Amino acid sequence: MPSPAARERVDAVVVGARCAGSAAAIAMARAGRRVLVVDRAGFPSDTLSTHLNFPSAVAEMQRLGALERIRRSGAPECREGMVAADGVACIQHFEPVDGIDYALCNPRPAFDLAMVETAREAGAEVRERTALADVRWNGGRAVGARLRGRDGGEYDVDAALVIGADGRGSTTADRVGAAVPYRGSRNDRGLAFFYADDPHAGTAWRGRVLQLRAGLTHTLVFPCPDDRMLVLFMGPASEIGAFRRNPHGMWDRLLAENPLAAERVSGATNLTKLRSTGSVAAFYRRSSGPGWALAGDAGHFKDPVIGQGMRDAMRFGRVLGEAAAPVIDDPRRLDAALLAAERRRDRECAASYHWGNKESRITPVSPLLKEALREFDRAQTPHLMHMFDRVRPAHHVLHPLRGATLATRAMLRRGTDRRALLRELREELRIDADTWREELTRPFRPTRTWASERPGYEVPGSAGARPVTAAPDAPAVVA
Ligand SMILES: Cc1cc2nc3c(=O)[nH]c(=O)nc-3n(C[C@H](O)[C@H](O)[C@H](O)COP(=O)(O)OP(=O)(O)OC[C@H]3O[C@@H](n4cnc5c(N)ncnc54)[C@H](O)[C@@H]3O)c2cc1C
Repeated sequence: MPSPAARERVDAVVVGARCAGSAAAIAMARAGRRVLVVDRAGFPSDTLSTHLNFPSAVAEMQRLGALERIRRSGAPECREGMVAADGVACIQHFEPVDGIDYALCNPRPAFDLAMVETAREAGAEVRERTALADVRWNGGRAVGARLRGRDGGEYDVDAALVIGADGRGSTTADRVGAAVPYRGSRNDRGLAFFYADDPHAGTAWRGRVLQLRAGLTHTLVFPCPDDRMLVLFMGPASEIGAFRRNPHGMWDRLLAENPLAAERVSGATNLTKLRSTGSVAAFYRRSSGPGWALAGDAGHFKDPVIGQGMRDAMRFGRVLGEAAAPVIDDPRRLDAALLAAERRRDRECAASYHWGNKESRITPVSPLLKEALREFDRAQTPHLMHMFDRVRPAHHVLHPLRGATLATRAMLRRGTDRRALLRELREELRIDADTWREELTRPFRPTRTWASERPGYEVPGSAGARPVTAAPDAPAVVA
């Protein structure tokens, strides 16, 4: 281990080099700060994630100066989104966000490599195959990191700021005492996905991202580079075992239940092996403290069913880096800036968190949703895609007045199970009222259980080694 005199000193150590870590590093390095990013992976490297990015996420890539590199992998520009439920479909164009009117679906190895290269270009040092072993402290303040290099040897680095951008099983969160979330929600949906050659190469399908609902399962189709596509099934998490035992049998079964999905993907060839998980609980961890902060999934994860994780990891990684860079030499102002960045993340993510929790419930296709799709497809405004693009949150697009109109139409439609519809309405109202309440009252690090949250969630523990179970009524870890 180097002597203290020889010890390396940087302004910030960032643990994790993907969406959040690279974004934070780019922001700080551009502001002239000395930044060391470490990742235990070597890039390019894959990670368990699908990777649809709506225009607001692509706009984040542009802000970071990473878009041109990311585009080199050749992912098609998808200008339309389609949501269908039991055959009732709504197709809409995306509206531009910062001039970007298309979604992209770049596989993670090339995407993350582009982020790492952009961070290096901005001036950050990215050290691969290097892990955080521990956070170092002085008088209750994080003052650096103990790192484990590719040869297994450990060494210390001094830093004014340690950012944990090391994913859901964050070691940093564990070392700063924030591993147990103060709020969260059980997910009930699993993810099972394949890549395949697109049977509709060269057609308009290549410019459209799909969410096709039938029965209890959503089938999602995202066009990828090289005329490939990603086919994702999001059904009950309890079916992930069946997927693992018989992936092709499940593929056949779910397409048989979903004629629109079958029309889109039948004839697909060169299927990869299945990738799957049944464990994607949503949560918030305390994300800042003296000399440290958590970025991306390390601090907050929302259900992937709404495809917002990469966007938020990039956006709030950047926001954190921009807030920290000018005040990194002043501990008091630095801590205040870290706290303000955390508050901003919470404020901007609350509605999507509740929306994701809602969408991860396992419920049959709702007559209300079908009415909404009919309305949005007919009128083309308001914009259903605004919800995915974060232009307006779901509870604003589907506000109470519109909800009442749609509910009346659904009630009057022949064949509607009115009792089930009333039950659904009660539940939706309860959740939306709570979502509005959170928006209006803006509590910081709330610890009561909110209506969208389901108990019994587990999140990966330290470095993914052990899950931490956090009942929502567990004692809050609040600074
Ligand atoms: C199944 C699934 C599907 C998803 N689909 C989508 C989607 O379609 N669209 C979307 O926007 N989001 C999606 N998400 C969410 C998205 O993957 C995440 O929100 C995003 O990857 C978060 O980025 P991050 O940089 O915070 O963390 P990560 O991408 O998890 O990166 C963390 C990095 O930290 C490194 N690391 C961990 N521990 C250490 C350590 N001790 N020392 C050094 N390095 C360490 C890891 O090697 C890794 O490179 C999905 C998530 C899942 C699980």
